[in-house]
Amino acid sequence: MTPQYDLEKIKFSIDSGTWEKAVNIYESGKVVSFQDTEFTYIAEVKGTELYKVIVSPRKFTEGNCNCYLGQNDTLCKHMIAVAIYGLKRGKPMTEEEKTQHNEVKFNGQAGETTPKQLSWVKAVISDSMRYIKSYTGPSKIWFTYQDSLTEGCNRLAAIVSKLPANRQTAKLLINLLLRLDKKLQTGGVDDSDGTVGGFIEEVVSLLVEFAQKDPECKKEFKALRDRETCFGWEEPLLNLC
Ligand SMILES: [Zn+2]
Repeated sequence: MTPQYDLEKIKFSIDSGTWEKAVNIYESGKVVSFQDTEFTYIAEVKGTELYKVIVSPRKFTEGNCNCYLGQNDTLCKHMIAVAIYGLKRGKPMTEEEKTQHNEVKFNGQAGETTPKQLSWVKAVISDSMRYIKSYTGPSKIWFTYQDSLTEGCNRLAAIVSKLPANRQTAKLLINLLLRLDKKLQTGGVDDSDGTVGGFIEEVVSLLVEFAQKDPECKKEFKALRDRETCFGWEEPLLNLC
């Protein structure tokens, strides 16, 4: 069966430690006896012991592993390694495939953005915003819900880290912050883990760097004056106006 996920989906959903370990397992050929039964991927993974691993081609988070974590229903590096095998079938991974883009990081670039680039960025942002949705319960799906917030913020982190500093991109980021703020204040988003709040702070720091690179960006910060935001995240930006 063709997997219903890709490497991007996996990378945006998990922490860097688990991802790096899983890539290591895959690359060192520790996934053995791989079988695609159409409904599941079955394999053995060499580790401290030989682990028996099953992963669904529908959802890489479904399946099991007889390691300590797997037995406690926690997604483990062995399952991720088998999911990678299901996608790559033993072929080597490129550097880009191995790299996660889950951190907000300024790329140091300034200069114009074309209308075409801007509309592409807006489309990616809208798509990522779908993961940052309201929480409607029940409590047993809370962890899945938090995973969705994490995936949404990671997807947003990847796209905002591609932006050059200029007035247009600063405006776009301010709008993104206000949309996220609204989701936290009135949109029913349960951010008790602080995932979205943490992301907002990272984007604020990114905007501070934008302003250092291109002072024109500061003009867009004025849109934040007299706003009641959820935790006063706009302060560092207003201080620059
Ligand atoms: Zn395991």
